[in-house]
Amino acid sequence: MNLPEKFLKRMQERLGGEYPAFLASYERPPYKALRVNTLKTELVEFIDDPPFPLGEQIEFPECEEINQFYIEEEKAGSYREHFAGLYYLQEPSAMCVGELTAPLRKERVLDLCAAPGGKTVQLAMQMKGDGILISNEIDAGRAKILSQNVERMGIGNCAVTNATPAQLAQKFPAYFDLVLADAPCSGEGMFKKEPEAIPHWSENNVSLCAARQREILDCAADMVADGGCLVYSTCTFSEEEDEWQARAFLKRHPDFRMDGESDEYKIYPHKFKGEGHYCVRFERCGGETRNAKPYPVRRNAQANKAFAEFAKNFFTAPPEGEITTLDDGRMYRLPAGMPVLGVRTLRLGVELGEFDGNIFKPAHALAMSLKREEGKRFVSLSGEECERYLSGETIEKEIANGWCVVGFGKYPLGLAKAVNGILKNHLPKGLRRLF
Ligand code: SAM
Repeated sequence: MNLPEKFLKRMQERLGGEYPAFLASYERPPYKALRVNTLKTELVEFIDDPPFPLGEQIEFPECEEINQFYIEEEKAGSYREHFAGLYYLQEPSAMCVGELTAPLRKERVLDLCAAPGGKTVQLAMQMKGDGILISNEIDAGRAKILSQNVERMGIGNCAVTNATPAQLAQKFPAYFDLVLADAPCSGEGMFKKEPEAIPHWSENNVSLCAARQREILDCAADMVADGGCLVYSTCTFSEEEDEWQARAFLKRHPDFRMDGESDEYKIYPHKFKGEGHYCVRFERCGGETRNAKPYPVRRNAQANKAFAEFAKNFFTAPPEGEITTLDDGRMYRLPAGMPVLGVRTLRLGVELGEFDGNIFKPAHALAMSLKREEGKRFVSLSGEECERYLSGETIEKEIANGWCVVGFGKYPLGLAKAVNGILKNHLPKGLRRLF
């Protein structure tokens, strides 16, 4: 690899005797890993019948998560289990953030720099479907990918927003129990995985990144409630962006503290089977806790009737939670207390569907969040039929006319509408794949 000389010199100065081992770590290909989605499947079930061989478990000392595994499979993203959201592919070192977030109170959580969503998924699993998770991404294109991942993973207590940290800080002062700022950085730790970042590296770019991180951190700090935590992470080695950034933050924010060594991690590729990562936790002691206005629970009589008509054939029991029809005319299931966001929002809880006059039309998000036992009309497809469905084809099946969820085993892939022995494909066009 053609690594910048100045970068190598800085690493040599930093690592001293460990430098040869660090350099040797570039000889082997990057490690790959997955996280089993325990919101959708039992861990034992996945391990008993994995779509491809799983390697050893990835464990961090303080974190109880046991659903992370190394993998060798090159095409792990093209299995039907991936489309069904049974696992999320993630760089192994990036999973270390769970080490610092696992023990925290998490009723209100903000993932401030969230796309494509690895840490949002990890937070959602730690929250086990409870509380409110706001997952934000500043870049509109990346926010769309984040939103698709949240949907695929069946995360029901999440809103996906596309805002700047400053916009959010204005809306949510002292509101969150936990803010995660997985900040944009110079990416030194990912050179092996993303070599296209190498030519962009310079000492000047490191300084620019550090200045941007400082702004992000100051906004993040404003949103932490009394007793809440701010977790900051990067995938770089430079002290300007990591340790020095953390110390400078504490100087600017005396109401935050760090609890000694256990609150700070630095992962080097010659010491761990993964790339570079840095992670630190600050706790806010003092300040205030503020609330925010929740979304109103609104349902008009016509919408109620149309939804009830649909629900009686579709669900085994009426769905629980705060079901509301919003100004866009669509019906949503929101986590209790979901605040009015007031910024560009791509996803809000689970979109149940929309209305065409008196007719309710279900949404893909509803299918992806549904458990097998909650739906009356589940059609299990063969492996070959799954591929055809995911490619957008219709499928012949004898089933009574109407909406149904299609998938394999007990795992949904999406919606179809049965019409006289044909399942009409309602997988959103942007999610279709050719096999
Ligand atoms: N947390 C993500 C995950 O686990 O999948 C990875 C986040 S990535 C390291 C950093 C993100 O910060 C990028 O998606 C990038 O678009 C976003 N970003 C870039 N500039 C930003 C800024 N000024 N404020 C907030 N986020 C920014």
